[in-house]
Amino acid sequence: MKVVKKRTPSKELQILDILSYRSNLSEKDTQQLLKLKKGYEGELLFDQLLDQQLQSECLVIRDLLLTVNNSTFQIDTLIIFPTIIELIDVKYFEGEYIYQKDNFYKDTDYKIKNPEHQLIRAETLLHQLLQRHGMKTLINSSVVFINPEFTLYNSPRDKPFILPTQINSFIKRLNSNYSKVTKQNQAIANKLISLHQEDSPYQTIPEYHYDQVQKGVVCHQCHSFSVVLQGHYCHCNDCGGKMLLSEAIIHTLRDFTILFPDKKITTGNVYDWCVIISSKQRIKRILMKHFKFVYNRRWSYYEWKAPGR
Ligand SMILES: [Zn+2]
Repeated sequence: MKVVKKRTPSKELQILDILSYRSNLSEKDTQQLLKLKKGYEGELLFDQLLDQQLQSECLVIRDLLLTVNNSTFQIDTLIIFPTIIELIDVKYFEGEYIYQKDNFYKDTDYKIKNPEHQLIRAETLLHQLLQRHGMKTLINSSVVFINPEFTLYNSPRDKPFILPTQINSFIKRLNSNYSKVTKQNQAIANKLISLHQEDSPYQTIPEYHYDQVQKGVVCHQCHSFSVVLQGHYCHCNDCGGKMLLSEAIIHTLRDFTILFPDKKITTGNVYDWCVIISSKQRIKRILMKHFKFVYNRRWSYYEWKAPGR
């Protein structure tokens, strides 16, 4: 197998995560952050499993956000085999659930959206999208429940649900594809990746302003702001953690860029954002070494060296 698109945390997850220690998240946003973190954790678990066990020739696309006919849909994992595409939705549900009359219930009375509905929608829209681009191929869809602590009572056999005890045989089935990946398969993968969007219309990011978020270097271990400069190192007064000043700055600027993508990395901005470094010369030296200098006649700035950081 070949991974043609890697997974990265969504912008919503990254921003909420940073705001959780740089501002006060509302209860609702905190819940949303927890939900996104769990979901992402489940997806990574499934990725790991495929990395270890999927052997047949195929192209793996992780995390796609696509739009067709004004409908946006998300796909956790797409595996392109020579004769079929496997569309996989990963769920990290934990605990005991009951399947009843096309619905999922937790603790008998708490109704939860049946993930099959979302899956069917994604499959239908993917069909339309491929057709529009003159690409026809079979699609098989499944919901993989990756959490070993998940149970579904009354799970019907004719549903596309892969329970934790069935994951191994599911991957075995995937491994029984023996054909070679074709140019046409690669063309489908390229097309889908080119159509991928970064921003989901469903994301709920709270409003925030530069003046309201807490500035400063945070400890990479405990997220405390009680970080002091000691020589070439940053020392955390709360947990005793220590990291190189240059690394601390890179971490801190990563937050800056994610929260404020329109703001440029300049010595002045870094001075203001990092708080603890009093020497602009020192900031300049670190930026020169670790970032790309962009000369501009009126105001120069720095850029991240590698995309994706
Ligand atoms: Zn700490």
